[in-house]
Amino acid sequence: MTAAATGRPHAPGSGRGRLRMAPVLMYHSISPSGVADPHRIRVHPDRLDRHLRLLRRLGLRGVPLAELVRATDRGEAAGLVGLTFDDGYTDFLEHAVPVLDRHGMAGTVYVVAGRLAGQNEWDEGPRLDLMDADAVRAVAAAGHEVGSHTLHHVHLRGATPAVLAEEIQGSRRVLEEVLQAEVPGFAYPWGEFDAAAADAVRAAGYDHACVTGDYLPGDRFTIPRFYVAPGDGAARLLAKLTRHSWRMRGVPDAGGAG
Ligand SMILES: [Zn+2]
Repeated sequence: MTAAATGRPHAPGSGRGRLRMAPVLMYHSISPSGVADPHRIRVHPDRLDRHLRLLRRLGLRGVPLAELVRATDRGEAAGLVGLTFDDGYTDFLEHAVPVLDRHGMAGTVYVVAGRLAGQNEWDEGPRLDLMDADAVRAVAAAGHEVGSHTLHHVHLRGATPAVLAEEIQGSRRVLEEVLQAEVPGFAYPWGEFDAAAADAVRAAGYDHACVTGDYLPGDRFTIPRFYVAPGDGAARLLAKLTRHSWRMRGVPDAGGAG
């Protein structure tokens, strides 16, 4: 089985084995707010609760992506699902953390490092508050992972080398300064990447990166995820998980390689 067999383009390999990845779910805002949600990025906390309850019924445990990747490297990812929350909205601490705690699960928050205490100015429409540095530290202290989502939530596909370096390296520096800890994970804004962007992520010292959308993964710098829509019920989520495991059949397990 080769990458070519998927018929899909992807970034050059990292030199390590292809990852037979467990599913990774992508959320954004978790909030009971009734404000218009034209970009469909808000999931109600009760719905998140039902999603996590479904995972438990299936014998699955939601973990931060860095933990999932480490487990995958060791061949020990069975029973795990990656949980990710993009953009670093302030509602994560208030509304997602209590639900995750209730189910004994944790996730990764991908923070836009140049907009701490700002808002989602990259979207037209309702403005949502983004975490400040204290909140980012609180997320890590509560047992969740903090990853980078660039400095300014820019389009990386086709970006110049200078923009790639500033947004990808610069955001890692900011977050490592805030956290006083290594930041191994990166998420491409809108999931947009090309080979140059993936190379820049690797060169900046990250361990892995995730994109948007479900397809057969190329390598650890283009890990696919499922978008979870505001209206996805347990049945829809189950269908997505089933489709993922169906697609993963036949991909060799890279875990424990060597
Ligand atoms: Zn984003």
